[in-house]
Amino acid sequence: MRKPLIAGNWKMNGSKELVESFGRAFTDIDLPSPLEVVIHPPFPYLDAAREAFANSAIELGAQTLNPLHSGARTGEVSGQMLKEFGVAYVLVGHSERRQLYREDDEQVYDRVIAALSVGIKPILCIGETLEERDAGRTEEVVLRQVGYVMARLEPEQRREMTLAYEPVWAIGTGRTATPEQAQQVMAAIRGYQAGFDRELAAGLRLLYGGSMNAANARELLAQQDIDGGLIGGASLKVDDFTAICQSAG
Ligand code: 13P
Repeated sequence: MRKPLIAGNWKMNGSKELVESFGRAFTDIDLPSPLEVVIHPPFPYLDAAREAFANSAIELGAQTLNPLHSGARTGEVSGQMLKEFGVAYVLVGHSERRQLYREDDEQVYDRVIAALSVGIKPILCIGETLEERDAGRTEEVVLRQVGYVMARLEPEQRREMTLAYEPVWAIGTGRTATPEQAQQVMAAIRGYQAGFDRELAAGLRLLYGGSMNAANARELLAQQDIDGGLIGGASLKVDDFTAICQSAG
């Protein structure tokens, strides 16, 4: 009953040419059904991506948004602007934003609300650092990040959410969480949600991210509580990303 979702986060990578090659590759492609595919290119490529993906299986995603609709925020982009470009999903709380741009739980919450207010579905990213894992604090950290946002949303807002568990130590390192490690955290997240809304918990989509690739995707996606993937490096190669999508069947 949970529709799998494979999302590609290009981060600060890609080109117009890459956008076009994804558009071509995902037009008339045979994909598993049901499956949603989203690409999150950098802002300047959104318009080209909207055009290139128009007849393809790919939906458009953005990598962040400002909590405000407009105003004196040099360099920032609002949810309203993203909506105008046909953006359906937005990443919020990615560990790179939390660490490099000091986004804390409160700012993450504000961004989730901003996205929901314009009808863009947030993909809330959460995950522990290696230090936190080694200290046995994985679930405490992840459930705090989840709870800070989810506990304050209205039930209908919660239903628009997708969560992406990305252990920080697995991002861009080639060191994927084992399927068992990932499943254990996913089960904890779903269990936590079930504590206050069983129906929501059963329908909540949970993605895994962190060095996911064409070789390890199938095993990760086969876990009971993993409903998709958030892919960084391997989403920059058409063949690898296509293969990951095929493993979601
Ligand atoms: P990698 O797949 O490159 O490890 O990146 C994961 C990620 O951060 C996706 O948001």
